[in-house]
Amino acid sequence: MKKILVTGGAGFIGSHLCEALLNQGNEVICLDNYFTGSKQNIVHLLSNPYFELIRHDVTMPFFIEVDEIYNLACPASPVHYQYNPIKTVKTSVMGAINMLGLAKRIKSKILQASTSEVYGDPITHPQPEEYWGNVNPIGIRSCYDEGKRCAETLFFDYHRQNNVRTKVVRIFNTYGPHMHPHDGRVVSNFIMQALHDEDITIYGDGSQTRSFCYCDDLVRGLIAMMDTDDSVIGPINLGNPHEFTIKQLAEMTIELTGSKSKIVYLPAVADDPTQRQPIINKAKEILGWEPTIELREGLQKTIDYFKNLEMR
Ligand code: NAD
Ligand code: UDP
Repeated sequence: MKKILVTGGAGFIGSHLCEALLNQGNEVICLDNYFTGSKQNIVHLLSNPYFELIRHDVTMPFFIEVDEIYNLACPASPVHYQYNPIKTVKTSVMGAINMLGLAKRIKSKILQASTSEVYGDPITHPQPEEYWGNVNPIGIRSCYDEGKRCAETLFFDYHRQNNVRTKVVRIFNTYGPHMHPHDGRVVSNFIMQALHDEDITIYGDGSQTRSFCYCDDLVRGLIAMMDTDDSVIGPINLGNPHEFTIKQLAEMTIELTGSKSKIVYLPAVADDPTQRQPIINKAKEILGWEPTIELREGLQKTIDYFKNLEMR
């Protein structure tokens, strides 16, 4: 049995990760300040004696003895991370410093949940890990993009300078149950609008693309990365390589919900990446990982989750 710390464990991805790690027979400590996460996401785990919940903010130092650290604490929805951009930078950068310092002291493995946002609005398409990105350093998305880029820098410097057992994955748009229904991300927005027969709000002309990965696939990838030996440090892309336009996502959501919603086009948001698709050859070769759940199937599961949530 391993002892594992998951920061941001009460969030969307973190809650699924905590559950998967417990199911593998590990002891899991979930650390969260509940900024965007919720106890509701992990309430079903609370009766497990090997699950522990700690309210803490990663911008403050924290000490614990564990074998592995998954560092997920950070708001991920643009609406949430732009709410207090200075805090977003602090969470990414000071959170990384605090968790890396802990990993250095206790000699644990540590995995950083980085993001496809490090590629910014990519000129190279699809995106391999070698691409350095096209990021605006002073725009409204920069607090997140540059915060995550700086966190990657810290992970690689702690590895080079202090031999910390670091691992970095770059996660592409992930969706599924436990997303916050009002977090403003495209999948949750479209489903909530469709379930209420409200207008589906496309920002821009809907030709921008994303590649959507279902949460269960992603969590398998995170664990596979952590389970590699110390020579594997990444960065490794984790995402579903099937690319969709936002208009296609809107149409599929209307079809699967049987909604009467109409699509409306609103002004594009600033610095919105026009395209995003991962190359996942490294994940396939090094981790033996690839996604198995396609958008239609995953979207249906997510719609069912939001329908239940609405009824409750
Ligand atoms: P989320 O907002 O649901 O989860 C983030 C969790 O971190 C929440 O529970 C929140 O309360 C917690 N948190 C935020 N600031 C904190 C702080 N200062 N101290 C302690 N806890 C804090 O988002 P998510 O989609 O589950 O994302 C999890 C991680 O994965 C994030 O680091 C995000 O950047 C990364 N990621 C997610 C996606 C995606 O599509 N979902 C894509 C790329 C990267
Ligand atoms: N988007 C949209 N309507 C919405 C929410 C988002 O058209 O109601 C678009 C957004 O402009 C972006 C894409 O959907 O082009 C994905 O947005 P999201 O916030 O989910 O994640 P991002 O990949 O931009 O971080």
